Amino acid sequence: MPAADLQYSEPGADEGHPPVQCEACRSALEADSRRTISFLLLDQFTIPLVSCEDHLEQFASVCGLTTQDDAETLDHRPAGGIRCPGCQHAPHSASQPVIPVREGAVLVVACPEHQSKIVQRFQTGLQTQHHLSSSVDATTPSLR
Ligand SMILES: [Zn+2]
Ligand SMILES: [Zn+2]
Repeated sequence: MPAADLQYSEPGADEGHPPVQCEACRSALEADSRRTISFLLLDQFTIPLVSCEDHLEQFASVCGLTTQDDAETLDHRPAGGIRCPGCQHAPHSASQPVIPVREGAVLVVACPEHQSKIVQRFQTGLQTQHHLSSSVDATTPSLR
C-alpha cells in the first residue's frame, strides 16, 4: 500500500511534554481558574498546585518523604494565607513548570524560588522512595 506518506508521527509528539494520561489532571490543568488550585503544606512552605486529587496526593506523599512531618494538602486557601508574596501573585499560566507524577501531572503555581524548592523536594523524595522500595524488595519475601 502506498500509504507511507501518511505514516509520519504526529507533529510535536517527540518534543516537549509527553501528553498527560490522567484525564482528571488534564482537565484541572486546562481549567484557567484559580478555583482548581490546591495547596501543599510542607515544612514552612505553602505551595499552590494544580492537579487531580489522586496525583496531588501522590505528589504530597513523595514530598513528605523528605521531611519528618507529613506533607499536607488543602483544597482551599490555608487559614494563614500564603506567606510568600511571590507565590501569592504567581500567575496561573502555561509558563509554570508541570511536574509529571506517574500518569498524571502537577502544575506548580509558585514563585521561581519555591518552584525550584518543591521540584527539588519531589526529586529527593522519588530517590528515597526508590531506595525504600528496592530495599524492601531485597529483604522481604513476597507472599504469594
Ligand atoms: Zn491525575
Ligand atoms: Zn514563593
